[in-house]
Amino acid sequence: MPANQIAIALSKGRIFEQTLPLLKAAGIVPRDDPESSRKLIIATSRPEVRLIIVRASDVPTYVQYGAADLGIAGLDVLLEHNGAGLYRPIDLDIARCRMMVAVPNGFDYEAAVRRGARLRVATKYIQTAREHFAAKGMHVDLIKLYGSMELAPLTGLSDAIVDLVSSGNTLKANNLKAVEEIFAISSRLIVNRAALKLRHAQVQPMLDAFAAAVVKG
Ligand code: ATP
Ligand code: MG
Repeated sequence: MPANQIAIALSKGRIFEQTLPLLKAAGIVPRDDPESSRKLIIATSRPEVRLIIVRASDVPTYVQYGAADLGIAGLDVLLEHNGAGLYRPIDLDIARCRMMVAVPNGFDYEAAVRRGARLRVATKYIQTAREHFAAKGMHVDLIKLYGSMELAPLTGLSDAIVDLVSSGNTLKANNLKAVEEIFAISSRLIVNRAALKLRHAQVQPMLDAFAAAVVKG
């Protein structure tokens, strides 16, 4: 990558959509829409800035290794990714939701906790779930899934799930209820530490523009 090029890693879908106004505030308008074009590298109105479209959970990896200078990723993803080399400066306050424990409607979670039941919990967020239940002093068997966590209790794979919830409609549609909030989630702007130092003159104004746009928004 030429020394003056800046790459921003982000995922398509809700994060891309909700990042557009923030990019615009930094004078960055994408030349293509990743939903319709199949391009994975998208040029922008600023010739030195390009967007790299990756899976949400791959964003920290690109930034950690410096393949992208900046990235936008959910706190859920960042907490599962235990990589060094990331600077996490700005809560963008987008893609907001909550990390929750959910169980079938008829299941008395509180009673299960009180009697020290050993629960099976299916989740994409193994690290987060492990820490949460350990802090509660609960013994759980964690089952790693990559999507559609709601199916697990319905099919007998698990007693509970740990998943992201926003409206709660998906839980409701599948006869599940949220019983515990683990934390509030939003997306963060992350920066490669070396890029922040070595390309400070380029990166810092971008961070400032994002920060200003969030405060104003
Ligand atoms: P994929 O859907 O391709 O398997 P993903 O689920 O990681 O990947 P998205 O569904 O686009 O990708 O989610 C990206 C990020 O958006 C998540 O990491 C999370 O921070 C946030 N997010 C996920 N679900 C919601 C939701 N229902 N409401 C608001 N934000 C959400
Ligand atoms: Mg998803």
